[in-house]
Amino acid sequence: MKLAFFDTKNYDKPSFLKYADKRGIEIKFFETKLSEDTASLARGFDGVCVFVNDTVSAPVIDLLIEDGCKFIALRCAGYNNVDLKHLAGRLPVFNVPAYSPHSVAEHAMAMLLTSVRRIHKAYIRTRDFNFSLKGMTGFDLHSKTVGVVGTGKIGRCFIDICRGFGMRILAFDKYPAEIPDVTYVDRETIFRECDIISLHCPLTDDTYHMIDEEAIAKMKKNAIVINTSRGALIDSPALLSAIKERRLGGACLDVYEDENELFFEDFSNHIVSDDTLARLISMPNVIVTSHQAFLTEEALDNIAETTVENIYAFLTEGKKNNNVTP
Ligand code: NAD
Repeated sequence: MKLAFFDTKNYDKPSFLKYADKRGIEIKFFETKLSEDTASLARGFDGVCVFVNDTVSAPVIDLLIEDGCKFIALRCAGYNNVDLKHLAGRLPVFNVPAYSPHSVAEHAMAMLLTSVRRIHKAYIRTRDFNFSLKGMTGFDLHSKTVGVVGTGKIGRCFIDICRGFGMRILAFDKYPAEIPDVTYVDRETIFRECDIISLHCPLTDDTYHMIDEEAIAKMKKNAIVINTSRGALIDSPALLSAIKERRLGGACLDVYEDENELFFEDFSNHIVSDDTLARLISMPNVIVTSHQAFLTEEALDNIAETTVENIYAFLTEGKKNNNVTP
Protein backbone atom coordinates (compact mmCIF):
# COMPACT_ATOMS: atom_id res chain seq x y z
CA MET A 1 0.00 0.00 0.00
CA LYS A 2 1.66 3.17 -1.22
CA LEU A 3 0.56 6.69 -0.46
CA ALA A 4 1.68 9.95 -2.12
CA PHE A 5 1.54 12.63 0.58
CA PHE A 6 1.40 16.23 -0.72
CA ASP A 7 2.17 19.58 0.97
CA THR A 8 4.15 17.85 3.73
CA LYS A 9 5.27 19.82 6.75
CA ASN A 10 7.69 18.45 9.33
CA TYR A 11 4.97 18.31 11.97
CA ASP A 12 2.97 15.88 9.77
CA LYS A 13 5.59 13.15 9.71
CA PRO A 14 5.87 11.66 13.25
CA SER A 15 2.17 10.94 13.71
CA PHE A 16 1.61 9.71 10.13
CA LEU A 17 4.66 7.43 10.24
CA LYS A 18 3.50 6.02 13.59
CA TYR A 19 0.06 4.96 12.28
CA ALA A 20 1.14 4.07 8.71
CA ASP A 21 3.87 1.73 9.98
CA LYS A 22 1.30 -0.12 12.09
CA ARG A 23 -0.87 -0.68 9.00
CA GLY A 24 1.91 -1.45 6.53
CA ILE A 25 1.33 1.67 4.47
CA GLU A 26 4.38 3.14 2.78
CA ILE A 27 4.33 6.95 2.54
CA LYS A 28 6.29 9.11 0.14
CA PHE A 29 6.30 12.66 1.49
CA PHE A 30 6.29 15.43 -1.12
CA GLU A 31 6.80 19.02 0.01
CA THR A 32 5.06 20.35 -3.06
CA LYS A 33 1.31 20.91 -3.17
CA LEU A 34 -0.89 18.82 -5.41
CA SER A 35 -1.72 20.72 -8.58
CA GLU A 36 -1.93 20.14 -12.34
CA ASP A 37 1.87 20.51 -12.48
CA THR A 38 2.59 17.98 -9.73
CA ALA A 39 -0.21 15.40 -10.14
CA SER A 40 2.11 13.11 -12.14
CA LEU A 41 4.16 12.53 -8.95
CA ALA A 42 1.28 10.34 -7.78
CA ARG A 43 1.83 7.86 -10.63
CA GLY A 44 2.45 4.36 -9.23
CA PHE A 45 0.86 5.14 -5.85
CA ASP A 46 -2.44 3.69 -4.62
CA GLY A 47 -3.73 7.10 -3.61
CA VAL A 48 -2.98 10.64 -2.53
CA CYS A 49 -3.15 12.37 0.81
CA VAL A 50 -3.85 16.11 0.62
CA PHE A 51 -4.43 19.12 2.86
CA VAL A 52 -6.47 22.33 2.73
CA ASN A 53 -4.49 24.19 0.08
CA ASP A 54 -3.84 21.34 -2.34
CA THR A 55 -5.79 21.71 -5.58
CA VAL A 56 -8.08 18.82 -6.43
CA SER A 57 -9.67 20.48 -9.45
CA ALA A 58 -11.22 18.81 -12.52
CA PRO A 59 -7.92 18.58 -14.48
CA VAL A 60 -6.06 17.24 -11.41
CA ILE A 61 -8.76 14.62 -10.83
CA ASP A 62 -8.54 13.49 -14.48
CA LEU A 63 -4.74 13.19 -14.24
CA LEU A 64 -4.98 11.20 -10.99
CA ILE A 65 -7.54 8.78 -12.46
CA GLU A 66 -5.48 8.37 -15.64
CA ASP A 67 -2.49 7.43 -13.47
CA GLY A 68 -4.41 4.75 -11.54
CA CYS A 69 -5.12 6.61 -8.31
CA LYS A 70 -7.70 4.69 -6.25
CA PHE A 71 -8.65 7.27 -3.59
CA ILE A 72 -8.15 10.81 -2.33
CA ALA A 73 -7.54 11.05 1.41
CA LEU A 74 -8.01 14.52 2.89
CA ARG A 75 -6.20 15.01 6.18
CA CYS A 76 -8.65 17.75 7.17
CA ALA A 77 -12.38 18.27 7.65
CA GLY A 78 -13.18 20.84 4.92
CA TYR A 79 -13.35 19.60 1.32
CA ASN A 80 -14.08 22.80 -0.61
CA ASN A 81 -10.82 22.30 -2.56
CA VAL A 82 -12.14 19.08 -4.16
CA ASP A 83 -14.31 19.31 -7.27
CA LEU A 84 -16.79 16.68 -6.10
CA LYS A 85 -19.16 17.36 -9.00
CA HIS A 86 -16.49 16.60 -11.56
CA LEU A 87 -15.33 13.60 -9.59
CA ALA A 88 -18.89 12.23 -9.70
CA GLY A 89 -18.05 9.34 -7.38
CA ARG A 90 -15.33 7.90 -9.63
CA LEU A 91 -12.93 7.85 -6.65
CA PRO A 92 -13.79 7.90 -2.97
CA VAL A 93 -12.74 11.01 -1.07
CA PHE A 94 -12.08 10.45 2.61
CA ASN A 95 -11.89 13.23 5.15
CA VAL A 96 -11.35 13.55 8.89
CA PRO A 97 -14.69 14.93 10.01
CA ALA A 98 -13.65 15.42 13.64
CA TYR A 99 -10.14 15.43 14.99
CA SER A 100 -10.24 18.03 17.70
CA PRO A 101 -12.99 20.60 17.42
CA HIS A 102 -11.55 21.97 20.68
CA SER A 103 -8.32 22.95 18.94
CA VAL A 104 -10.11 25.29 16.53
CA ALA A 105 -12.64 26.63 19.03
CA GLU A 106 -9.92 27.37 21.59
CA HIS A 107 -7.85 29.13 18.93
CA ALA A 108 -10.87 31.28 18.01
CA MET A 109 -11.21 32.32 21.65
CA ALA A 110 -7.44 32.87 21.97
CA MET A 111 -7.57 35.27 19.03
CA LEU A 112 -10.62 37.04 20.43
CA LEU A 113 -9.03 37.55 23.86
CA THR A 114 -5.78 38.68 22.25
CA SER A 115 -7.66 41.26 20.23
CA VAL A 116 -9.98 42.47 22.98
CA ARG A 117 -7.30 42.71 25.68
CA ARG A 118 -4.56 43.95 23.30
CA ILE A 119 -2.22 41.10 24.28
CA HIS A 120 -0.41 41.32 20.92
CA LYS A 121 0.44 44.95 21.67
CA ALA A 122 1.26 44.38 25.34
CA TYR A 123 3.67 41.55 24.49
CA ILE A 124 5.74 43.80 22.23
CA ARG A 125 5.49 46.79 24.58
CA THR A 126 6.73 45.10 27.75
CA ARG A 127 9.60 43.39 25.90
CA ASP A 128 10.78 46.93 25.21
CA PHE A 129 10.25 47.88 28.90
CA ASN A 130 7.42 50.15 27.83
CA PHE A 131 4.95 49.78 30.68
CA SER A 132 2.52 52.45 29.52
CA LEU A 133 -1.14 51.44 29.33
CA LYS A 134 -2.02 54.06 26.74
CA GLY A 135 -4.42 52.61 24.16
CA MET A 136 -4.71 49.30 26.04
CA THR A 137 -8.32 49.59 27.23
CA GLY A 138 -10.26 46.49 26.33
CA PHE A 139 -13.78 45.37 27.17
CA ASP A 140 -15.37 42.54 29.17
CA LEU A 141 -16.66 39.59 27.19
CA HIS A 142 -19.12 38.91 30.01
CA SER A 143 -22.68 39.92 28.98
CA LYS A 144 -21.65 40.68 25.39
CA THR A 145 -23.61 39.07 22.57
CA VAL A 146 -21.77 36.54 20.44
CA GLY A 147 -23.15 35.26 17.14
CA VAL A 148 -22.05 31.78 16.11
CA VAL A 149 -22.57 30.98 12.43
CA GLY A 150 -22.50 27.20 12.04
CA THR A 151 -23.26 25.19 15.16
CA GLY A 152 -21.57 21.93 14.20
CA LYS A 153 -18.72 20.34 16.10
CA ILE A 154 -16.45 23.40 16.30
CA GLY A 155 -19.29 25.91 16.67
CA ARG A 156 -20.62 23.98 19.67
CA CYS A 157 -17.20 23.85 21.37
CA PHE A 158 -16.92 27.60 20.83
CA ILE A 159 -20.42 28.03 22.31
CA ASP A 160 -19.36 26.05 25.41
CA ILE A 161 -16.38 28.36 25.86
CA CYS A 162 -18.52 31.49 25.39
CA ARG A 163 -21.04 30.17 27.90
CA GLY A 164 -18.20 29.96 30.42
CA PHE A 165 -17.49 33.64 29.82
CA GLY A 166 -21.12 34.53 30.61
CA MET A 167 -21.91 35.73 27.10
CA ARG A 168 -25.34 35.92 25.47
CA ILE A 169 -25.29 33.46 22.59
CA LEU A 170 -27.15 33.82 19.30
CA ALA A 171 -26.64 31.34 16.48
CA PHE A 172 -27.41 30.82 12.84
CA ASP A 173 -27.29 27.43 11.15
CA LYS A 174 -28.99 26.01 8.09
CA TYR A 175 -29.92 23.05 10.29
CA PRO A 176 -30.57 24.39 13.82
CA ALA A 177 -30.12 22.06 16.78
CA GLU A 178 -31.23 22.09 20.41
CA ILE A 179 -28.40 23.69 22.37
CA PRO A 180 -28.84 25.00 25.91
CA ASP A 181 -28.61 28.80 26.31
CA VAL A 182 -28.50 29.32 22.53
CA THR A 183 -31.11 31.25 20.59
CA TYR A 184 -31.26 30.61 16.86
CA VAL A 185 -31.93 33.70 14.76
CA ASP A 186 -31.54 34.59 11.08
CA ARG A 187 -28.28 35.83 9.58
CA GLU A 188 -29.48 39.46 9.53
CA THR A 189 -30.10 39.39 13.30
CA ILE A 190 -26.62 37.98 13.88
CA PHE A 191 -25.15 40.86 11.86
CA ARG A 192 -27.30 43.51 13.57
CA GLU A 193 -27.17 42.43 17.22
CA CYS A 194 -23.82 40.81 17.87
CA ASP A 195 -20.71 42.32 19.42
CA ILE A 196 -18.71 39.34 18.23
CA ILE A 197 -19.41 37.13 15.21
CA SER A 198 -17.56 33.83 14.85
CA LEU A 199 -17.78 31.79 11.64
CA HIS A 200 -17.87 28.00 11.93
CA CYS A 201 -19.77 26.92 8.80
CA PRO A 202 -18.27 25.30 5.70
CA LEU A 203 -17.44 27.20 2.52
CA THR A 204 -20.20 26.50 0.01
CA ASP A 205 -21.96 28.47 -2.75
CA ASP A 206 -24.36 29.61 -0.01
CA THR A 207 -21.69 30.88 2.35
CA TYR A 208 -19.15 32.33 -0.13
CA HIS A 209 -18.54 35.99 0.89
CA MET A 210 -21.30 35.84 3.51
CA ILE A 211 -19.43 38.70 5.19
CA ASP A 212 -19.42 41.30 2.42
CA GLU A 213 -19.98 45.04 2.15
CA GLU A 214 -23.72 44.65 2.71
CA ALA A 215 -23.35 42.38 5.76
CA ILE A 216 -20.71 44.63 7.33
CA ALA A 217 -22.97 47.66 6.84
CA LYS A 218 -25.51 45.99 9.14
CA MET A 219 -22.99 45.23 11.91
CA LYS A 220 -22.33 47.22 15.05
CA LYS A 221 -19.51 49.72 14.67
CA ASN A 222 -17.42 47.92 17.28
CA ALA A 223 -18.21 44.37 16.20
CA ILE A 224 -15.36 41.88 15.99
CA VAL A 225 -15.43 39.20 13.30
CA ILE A 226 -13.60 35.91 13.86
CA ASN A 227 -12.93 33.54 10.98
CA THR A 228 -11.31 30.18 11.71
CA SER A 229 -13.35 28.41 9.04
CA ARG A 230 -12.47 29.19 5.42
CA GLY A 231 -11.08 32.45 4.04
CA ALA A 232 -13.64 32.97 1.29
CA LEU A 233 -16.47 33.30 3.80
CA ILE A 234 -15.25 36.91 3.99
CA ASP A 235 -14.86 39.35 1.11
CA SER A 236 -11.43 40.59 2.24
CA PRO A 237 -11.30 43.89 0.30
CA ALA A 238 -14.71 44.73 1.84
CA LEU A 239 -13.36 43.84 5.29
CA LEU A 240 -10.27 45.97 4.73
CA SER A 241 -12.37 48.98 3.65
CA ALA A 242 -14.53 48.65 6.77
CA ILE A 243 -11.47 48.44 9.03
CA LYS A 244 -9.84 51.45 7.32
CA GLU A 245 -13.02 53.48 7.61
CA ARG A 246 -13.43 52.48 11.28
CA ARG A 247 -16.79 50.82 10.59
CA LEU A 248 -15.79 47.63 12.44
CA GLY A 249 -14.15 46.94 15.79
CA GLY A 250 -11.68 44.37 14.52
CA ALA A 251 -11.06 41.04 12.85
CA CYS A 252 -9.38 37.80 13.95
CA LEU A 253 -8.45 35.78 10.88
CA ASP A 254 -6.93 32.32 10.91
CA VAL A 255 -7.87 31.86 7.26
CA TYR A 256 -7.72 34.15 4.24
CA GLU A 257 -9.34 33.76 0.86
CA ASP A 258 -6.06 33.95 -1.08
CA GLU A 259 -3.99 32.05 1.47
CA ASN A 260 -3.00 29.21 -0.91
CA GLU A 261 0.31 30.61 -2.07
CA LEU A 262 1.25 32.20 1.27
CA PHE A 263 0.13 30.37 4.37
CA PHE A 264 2.36 27.67 5.87
CA GLU A 265 5.46 29.19 4.20
CA ASP A 266 8.14 31.64 5.41
CA PHE A 267 8.03 34.90 3.44
CA SER A 268 9.89 36.96 6.04
CA ASN A 269 12.66 37.79 3.54
CA HIS A 270 10.33 38.47 0.64
CA ILE A 271 8.08 41.26 -0.51
CA VAL A 272 4.53 39.98 -0.24
CA SER A 273 2.52 41.19 -3.18
CA ASP A 274 -0.95 40.66 -1.70
CA ASP A 275 -1.77 44.26 -0.76
CA THR A 276 -5.07 43.39 0.90
CA LEU A 277 -3.45 40.91 3.27
CA ALA A 278 -0.44 43.15 3.92
CA ARG A 279 -2.70 46.08 4.77
CA LEU A 280 -4.94 43.93 6.98
CA ILE A 281 -1.87 42.68 8.88
CA SER A 282 -0.72 46.27 9.37
CA MET A 283 -3.92 47.17 11.24
CA PRO A 284 -3.73 47.31 15.05
CA ASN A 285 -7.17 45.72 15.38
CA VAL A 286 -6.61 42.83 12.96
CA ILE A 287 -4.95 39.60 14.06
CA VAL A 288 -3.86 37.09 11.45
CA THR A 289 -2.59 33.57 12.10
CA SER A 290 -1.71 31.30 9.21
CA HIS A 291 -4.35 28.58 9.33
CA GLN A 292 -2.96 27.18 12.57
CA ALA A 293 -6.18 26.73 14.54
CA PHE A 294 -6.04 22.96 14.06
CA LEU A 295 -2.40 22.68 15.14
CA THR A 296 -2.37 20.89 18.48
CA GLU A 297 -0.69 17.60 19.38
CA GLU A 298 -4.06 15.98 19.97
CA ALA A 299 -5.41 17.10 16.61
CA LEU A 300 -2.31 15.95 14.67
CA ASP A 301 -2.49 12.54 16.27
CA ASN A 302 -6.22 12.14 15.58
CA ILE A 303 -5.82 13.37 11.99
CA ALA A 304 -3.09 10.82 11.27
CA GLU A 305 -4.95 7.94 12.91
CA THR A 306 -8.26 8.61 11.13
CA THR A 307 -6.61 9.23 7.73
CA VAL A 308 -4.57 6.04 7.92
CA GLU A 309 -7.59 4.02 9.10
CA ASN A 310 -9.74 5.47 6.26
CA ILE A 311 -7.13 4.32 3.74
CA TYR A 312 -6.49 0.94 5.36
CA ALA A 313 -10.20 0.04 5.57
CA PHE A 314 -10.63 0.92 1.90
CA LEU A 315 -7.57 -0.87 0.57
CA THR A 316 -8.08 -4.03 2.61
CA GLU A 317 -11.88 -4.36 2.83
CA GLY A 318 -13.23 -1.88 0.29
CA LYS A 319 -14.92 0.07 3.11
CA LYS A 320 -15.53 3.76 2.47
CA ASN A 321 -15.36 5.27 5.93
CA ASN A 322 -15.75 9.07 6.08
CA ASN A 323 -16.45 9.23 2.36
CA VAL A 324 -17.37 12.75 1.34
CA THR A 325 -20.28 13.16 -1.07
CA PRO A 326 -21.53 16.37 -2.74
P1 NAD B 1 -19.46 20.60 11.01
O1 NAD B 1 -19.82 19.97 9.73
O2 NAD B 1 -19.48 19.81 12.26
O3 NAD B 1 -20.34 21.91 11.23
C1 NAD B 1 -20.66 22.81 10.23
C2 NAD B 1 -21.99 23.45 10.56
O4 NAD B 1 -22.26 24.45 9.58
C3 NAD B 1 -23.16 22.44 10.54
O5 NAD B 1 -23.93 22.57 11.71
C4 NAD B 1 -23.93 22.86 9.30
O6 NAD B 1 -25.34 22.64 9.42
C5 NAD B 1 -23.64 24.35 9.24
N1 NAD B 1 -23.90 24.93 7.93
C6 NAD B 1 -23.82 24.35 6.71
N2 NAD B 1 -24.18 25.23 5.76
C7 NAD B 1 -24.48 26.38 6.39
C8 NAD B 1 -24.92 27.65 5.96
N3 NAD B 1 -25.13 27.90 4.65
N4 NAD B 1 -25.12 28.61 6.88
C9 NAD B 1 -24.95 28.35 8.21
N5 NAD B 1 -24.53 27.17 8.68
C10 NAD B 1 -24.31 26.19 7.78
O7 NAD B 1 -18.00 21.21 10.76
P2 NAD B 1 -16.91 21.61 11.87
O8 NAD B 1 -16.05 20.44 12.17
O9 NAD B 1 -17.58 22.34 12.97
O10 NAD B 1 -16.00 22.63 11.01
C11 NAD B 1 -16.48 23.88 10.58
C12 NAD B 1 -15.53 24.46 9.58
O11 NAD B 1 -14.28 24.76 10.23
C13 NAD B 1 -15.11 23.48 8.46
O12 NAD B 1 -15.98 23.58 7.37
C14 NAD B 1 -13.73 23.90 8.09
O13 NAD B 1 -13.82 24.72 6.94
C15 NAD B 1 -13.25 24.75 9.27
N6 NAD B 1 -12.04 24.23 9.91
C16 NAD B 1 -10.97 25.05 10.05
C17 NAD B 1 -9.82 24.60 10.70
C18 NAD B 1 -8.63 25.51 10.92
O14 NAD B 1 -7.53 25.02 11.24
N7 NAD B 1 -8.76 26.80 10.81
C19 NAD B 1 -9.77 23.28 11.17
C20 NAD B 1 -10.89 22.47 11.00
C21 NAD B 1 -12.02 22.94 10.38
